[in-house]
Parts: sequence; C-alpha cells; structure tokens
Amino acid sequence: MILAKYSTLLITTLLGIGLGGGFSLARAQERTPSVCPPPVLSRLVRHRVSAGETLESIARAYNLIPATLMGLNPVLRSGKAPVGTEILVPPFNGIRVELGSNQSWREVAKQYGVRPDALYEVNGCQSAPKVVFIPGVNWSPVASPGQSPSTQFTRILAGYPLPMQPSQSAILLSYGWGVQPTTGEVGFHSGVDLAAPVGTQVLAVGDGTVAFAGNQGAYGQLIVINHREGLQTRYAQLGSIQVKVGQVVKQGQVIGTTGTSGRPSLTQPHLHFEVRSRSSLGWVAENPETYLLQNIPRPNQATR
Ligand SMILES: [Zn+2]
Repeated sequence: MILAKYSTLLITTLLGIGLGGGFSLARAQERTPSVCPPPVLSRLVRHRVSAGETLESIARAYNLIPATLMGLNPVLRSGKAPVGTEILVPPFNGIRVELGSNQSWREVAKQYGVRPDALYEVNGCQSAPKVVFIPGVNWSPVASPGQSPSTQFTRILAGYPLPMQPSQSAILLSYGWGVQPTTGEVGFHSGVDLAAPVGTQVLAVGDGTVAFAGNQGAYGQLIVINHREGLQTRYAQLGSIQVKVGQVVKQGQVIGTTGTSGRPSLTQPHLHFEVRSRSSLGWVAENPETYLLQNIPRPNQATR
C-alpha cells in the first residue's frame, strides 16, 4: 500500500502537522524570530548510500567525522553503511539530544560544556525545545551522560507488532521500491507486510502516544504512535482499532487487530507496519527491518 509518492507525502503532511504532541519543532519554527537561523535539526540533508560508499567516505565528503553520522543515524552504528539506506547529514559535527521533561537548554549547555548562547542560536532561538543539536560534541555509545544512545534507541522500539514470535510471521512484502503484487507496477512500499491471519492482535512496539487512530485512504484503519527520539510507528490495514488519539500506550499493549481495510498491497492477510523518523520534510519512512525485524525469515523472495 501507499504506492504513490504523493499519497505518502500527503499523509505525512496531514499527520506531521495536524496531529499529536510531537511536533514542537515545526511549531517553534513558526515563532522563530527572523534574526535567528533555522534550527540545525531542520537543515539536515538526506543522503542515499550508493554502492562503494562507506561510513568514512560519506563523512569525509561532508567534512564530518563518522561519529556524527552514527549519532544521527542508528542504522550506521554497526560501522557499516548499507547501500540504498537514506541517512541524515547535519551541516557540522555535533549530537542530537532529547531534553528531559524539566530540562532547559541552559542546563543541557552546562552538561555538555558548550556556550549557552551558541547552543541557543544553533537551535533556532527556541525558548523551550524538546530536541536540540549540540555542536562540537562527539557522539559515542557510552560517552553521553546517563544511558548510551544506542541502548536507548533500541529500547524505544524493542517490541514486535504481533503476538507471535518474529520467526513465525514472515515478511510478505519488504520496504522499498519494487514491483507491487496487486498492480504489477513499480512502486514504493513504505513499510513491511507481516503475515498474520485476519483478527490477530496488533501490539505497540514501544511506549508512546497515539497520534492518529482512524480511517486514512490507502492505509485503511490506521494507528499512528509517536515515540521518543522523533520516532513514529504506523499500523495499517487494520480490522479494528482499540486506542484513541492522545492515549498513552505501553510497549506490548494491544492497540487493535489485523484486517483488510484500505488498499492492501497483497491479498494474503497481513499487518502493514511502518517506522518513520521526524525530519524537516515531515515523517520519513525508514526500513522497519533496520530497527526491529532483523531475524525474520523470507520464505518467498519473489514477492518482493
Ligand atoms: Zn503494505
């Protein structure tokens, strides 16, 4: 489903701006005084990894150190740059930090030993940002105060969207460009289709807040959950929805059941599952397998 680029963009716009509580960046930008440059996190450049490129070579091309790219792109933290992956590139070295609920940017500046005025300006002079970019600080799996970012990240989406073991729900259709089974046309599949009988419980893969719950075009019955660190998951083609917008959900909580609503890209019963990350261009679909579906068997590669 969601084969046309335009429908993806449309839904991104609708969901990214109209709903939920995770959009402070976009709102804050509207209030930003013109003397301030746009926040660094709104100026990230997208780079698609092509064959022959490495983490090091990409970093070099943008005059950055590899750690900066690893910090912003968890997919790179193994040290490898998978071909075809889209990564985010900041204009200079630094790290992205999510502020605690009562944490001010002044405290963050102190914590990381950077000048408060520099931090303020780099982040678009927002008075109460939720996420900031801290220039000149090197990302490291262990160096930041408290938890390691990589551990934090995997914990955010550590669950599985179906009650069965991942090994028992094959990927019927992968994320990315390919021939779409129902139409025979080449299109972009913005998530993964996980085999599951109609009526199977659907589970939140991480703690979060429901940003959308209802009918949405090709998605059919759709649930969108916003998580920490600018992550979002989407559960589509559902048969029933058991949560409401604004509801806080826990990892593993039942949020609905699988169905065949909307315009599924396959006739076999499945859950359409997406992982998206927030960017200046809206919510960008990422490959869910990168996050949590590493070990799912693919019995029928031809369906891709
Ligand atoms: Zn699908």
